[in-house]
Amino acid sequence: MAKQEVAMLFDSSHCTGCKGCQVACKQWNMLPSALGLNENKFTGSLQSPADLNGDTRLIMTFDEKPSGNKFQPIHWAIGRRSCFHCTNAACVEVCSSGALTKKENGVVAFDTEKCNGCTYCQSACPFDVPRFRPQDGRIDKCTLCIDRLEEGEVPACVKTCQPEALKFGPREEMIALGKQRVEFLKKKGFEKAELYGETEMGGLHVLSVLKFGHEAYGLPTDPTPNTLIPAIKAMKPIAAAGTGLVVAGLAVSFLAAMGYRRKEVTIEEAKKSWTPEQRAKADREVAELLRRERAANNETK
Ligand code: SF4
Ligand code: SF4
Ligand code: SF4
Repeated sequence: MAKQEVAMLFDSSHCTGCKGCQVACKQWNMLPSALGLNENKFTGSLQSPADLNGDTRLIMTFDEKPSGNKFQPIHWAIGRRSCFHCTNAACVEVCSSGALTKKENGVVAFDTEKCNGCTYCQSACPFDVPRFRPQDGRIDKCTLCIDRLEEGEVPACVKTCQPEALKFGPREEMIALGKQRVEFLKKKGFEKAELYGETEMGGLHVLSVLKFGHEAYGLPTDPTPNTLIPAIKAMKPIAAAGTGLVVAGLAVSFLAAMGYRRKEVTIEEAKKSWTPEQRAKADREVAELLRRERAANNETK
């Protein structure tokens, strides 16, 4: 694998919203789609599915903005939502199993086999990217098609994009290309046009030329990792020692507190309802379980 930093460049001003990239991502990574009639609920926009999920690493986002031009009253801000492969990757920092790793070329790689489903990465990511796959109890996210990069290919989504709204190459080249395009767009009257990702999170490896400015695409200004990272990191040794226990402990705690039956809620669903007190209680229970386990192990030695 080349050590040179690489990046993808998404140019919203060239994107036609065809979603070929979404399909290519599913095909290459063999990820299932909802196939039932009307299984994906209509959200009032062309965006489908409405958000990323455990089987969907990439979605194109569609946002309508008034243009101020009576002949063409709406501007369509078409964005791209997937992992940005941050230099300061918060997900890697908190991963309890070493499943998420940062490569020298900038890719934030993901080893499914190592993932223990602790979901700390999901909590830490400022872009809310990693998603839980309930069917196998693991996280999934874009890998920048690292398997293709290793064979000298470009990512599947880039390969399929007909209007060349997606490009891939050395990061410096992509930044230069992006800046040129922003300059062009500004001259054309798109005064908010910008290149997103040159410095955000220490530098992203998926850069975006955003014709209407990042707010129009729902991207955060100066994204920062979740402030709970120190607390999450403190949990790492516990999760690494026995995530099964963590999940069981959290579930037990939650179920005890809420009176739900386990089969009716996933851990992910349950976590949304937890209070800090419930989490603290779960952590105490896990620590106690681990202490007992260690004591039992010592006795049998
Ligand atoms: S394939 Fe290219 S043009 Fe089509 S939605 Fe994706 S980025 Fe846009
Ligand atoms: S976007 Fe989120 S999941 Fe992707 S590298 Fe950055 S922190 Fe990690
Ligand atoms: S780089 Fe690969 S995994 Fe990432 S969105 Fe594109 S096709 Fe999907």
